[in-house]
This record gives sequence, structure tokens and C-alpha cells, in this order.
Amino acid sequence: MSNSPSEPVDPWSTPILHVDLDAFFVSVEILDEPTLRGRPVCVGGAGERGVIASASYEARRYGVHSAMASSTARRLCPDLVILPGRFDRYEEYSAQFHDVLADVTWCTESLGLDEAFLDVRPSRRVTESPLAAADEVRRRLREELHLECGVGVARNKLFAKLGSKRAKPRYSPSGVTPGPGVLWVTPDVETSWLEEMPVRELWGVGPATERKLARLGITRVPELRRVEESHLASHLGDSLARTLAEFARGEDSREVESSREAKSIGHEETFAVSVNEEGDIREILRRHAGIVARALRDRHLLARRVTVVARDDELRTRSRSQTLSFGIDDDDALAEVAIALGVSVERSLALRLLGVHASQLEERVGSSIQLSLDFGDGATTESSEEASRRRQVDREALRDTIDDIRRRFGANVLGRASEMERGALRLRAQRSESPFGPAREEP
Ligand SMILES: [Mg+2]
Repeated sequence: MSNSPSEPVDPWSTPILHVDLDAFFVSVEILDEPTLRGRPVCVGGAGERGVIASASYEARRYGVHSAMASSTARRLCPDLVILPGRFDRYEEYSAQFHDVLADVTWCTESLGLDEAFLDVRPSRRVTESPLAAADEVRRRLREELHLECGVGVARNKLFAKLGSKRAKPRYSPSGVTPGPGVLWVTPDVETSWLEEMPVRELWGVGPATERKLARLGITRVPELRRVEESHLASHLGDSLARTLAEFARGEDSREVESSREAKSIGHEETFAVSVNEEGDIREILRRHAGIVARALRDRHLLARRVTVVARDDELRTRSRSQTLSFGIDDDDALAEVAIALGVSVERSLALRLLGVHASQLEERVGSSIQLSLDFGDGATTESSEEASRRRQVDREALRDTIDDIRRRFGANVLGRASEMERGALRLRAQRSESPFGPAREEP
């Protein structure tokens, strides 16, 4: 906050990069069919009730954007080309995208098919500066994959993500102009953004939270900064209030959590009929968690990291991850974390795919410190005193974890795990190298 405009900024004070590919699905389609270049193109559902998943910048000039009904998009732009999605192809490109990032630093955290955070501090290869790393990422993605991206370079995730968005091409009815490509968020830039930014641009503020804040008279970040955190907490809950108060001051303590190195065990399912009810989503996550937990136990492994992957009817893939302070292989523990992550994924449409992945695997030694959540039925050989002490510790550890998820992602709905049906499950767990799931989905 003390930097005056004339003060030089140490480039290493901003070691966090957020990389986001431009119009990813559409860009891949254009690479495969170059005659589409320069035309208004979308990927999405062309049918009566179809939805746009990804729009080229030429299409955006007409006001077309993702999540828009295809019928509306066609009305805005009669020449619009709407292509069905080809996920196999996007996943191939996505794997190469993540390979390029992993080449720059081992510390990358995937946020889905086309975006990731990088911490370039621990890199052996980046010696010049984080800005040079950003340039290298852009150059290599362009030369090797022919894909463009925006990169935000900042001191934390909050500003890095805001930066990549502002690094992208700009469009208006009169045309498309290239963005800066790389945006360096210096302290001056931070200050000017925080002065005017709408709260909806802050991480974790979805439509529901935005409405709640609006009812409190808060639409912009400076208003958010002025309100007492306790007042905010009485309307939003403690954890979200704390997170937003931090974000409003430009603070974000979340680390870039590398998930790529770890082997993972996961289970995903694409549904014949998309699911929308939260109860169904919980039930599916619980079932997937049970399958993954059993696969972990079969292999004598504990997982320190849980990732939930969700793809909605807009064809948008989102993932949420949580690193635990303890390893787990228990159905209920894994299910509770997966459900907390799953309900924190912001969505406006039904889901067509849900997956649960366990990573940062460690070998289970004896019966060691694994989390056991056998609430109630007490079928244990431990002394009852020891068992109840351990259960208490375990519950506290799990509660902290769930609180952490809510703080990070603003989950506002979460209940205690209910009993699951174990009857007819078949083990179909797969090993996966990728944090957002196996390269090929099961039919
Ligand atoms: Mg993108």
C-alpha cells in the first residue's frame, strides 16, 4: 500500500501467474477447420434448447457469450456458426497446454481444461523474472499449440486471475483488438482496481452472494471494505465474510497447490440425463467417493488431496480441490470433503459429469493415523476412551477442513453426511495423471 508510482517494483514480489486460454473450445475448432477463422463461431447446443459454451471474439462482437441460449445467440447474429463440442479433442489440447505449463514450473494448479495457476518461485528454469516466465508461456503456447492466452502476473491468486481476464482481447460492435496478453499487477494497479471494481468480480461472489450484498447496499469493493466484518458475517456467515473482507483489502493467502505431480485415483461418470437437484449431486458424489475410498484401501494408500470435477450443460468444466492435513481412505471422510467441494462449485445449469479424484497419495503404514469416522455404531477394538478421543480429534480435523473449503470457495450449503447405500456398487476406479480427470470418459 505504501508504493508511490515512482517506486520501482521488485518483479519477484509478483510470482503468481494465472494463465487462461482465449475462447478455448472455439480456438481448437478453428485450428481443425481454418476456413472458420474470422467468422462468428460458437461451440454449443444447436438445438431448440441449446446453450452456448464458448464463443469466438467475432461472435462476442454481436453480444453473444457463453451460457446464452443458442436461440438468442442466433437472433443476435444470424450468420453464427454453432458447432457441437468434441471433448476428446479439447482434452488432447488441454493435456499439451498443461505440459507446457509444467515445463515452466512444477508448481502448477489446474482449474480446468483451459486455465491454471503457476507459482514460478520454485522453478529451476525461471531465472529472469515472473514476467519473463509469462512471456515464455505465451510464446510457447502460440508456437507449439497455436493457441492464444491471457496471463496475469501478481503477488497472489486474486490479482493474478483478475489480471489474466484483463490481458485478453477486447471486442466491441466495431471490432476486435488484441489485449496486452500479459498483465503485470503492480501495487498501483491493485490500488486502482480495488477503487472501482464491482464485488461480483471477486472470487467466490456468485449471483446469490451478489444479491445479498446488494441488499446491504454493497455493489463495489470500496463499499465492501468499509463495512464491519461482523455485520457482513451476520448476513453471509463467518467464513465467507472473512474471505470477502480479505479480498476487499487485496489480501489472498491461498497458495498455488501443485496437483500434477501426484498420481491420482479417481472415478467419473457422464450422465445420460443431466442432474440438477442438489440432493442427487450429493448422492452421486457420495457414491463416487465410496468407490475411490475402496480403491485406496485396496492399494493401501491414503489420499491427502481431494478434487471434484463438474461439467455442466454449458459444457464448462470446473474443478475444486482441497488438501488435507491428514491422509484419508474412509468412505465418509472422503464423501464429506467431496460434497463440500461439490456444492461449492458455482453453477446455473444442470451437470452432465461429476468426478471425484484422490491424489497426493501416501502409503498407509499399519493402521496409523487414518481418519476413521464411524459415527455412532462403535464397532472398534480400541478402548472406548481412546476411540472417542480419536474420533473427536478426527471430527475436529474434518470440520476444519470443511470450514477451509467454505472459506476458499464460499460454499453456503453443507450438511452432515447421511448414510450411503453400498449395495450394488462396482469398482471402476481408474488411475489418472490429470487433475481434471482421465483423458477418456467412460461411455
Ligand atoms: Mg479460457
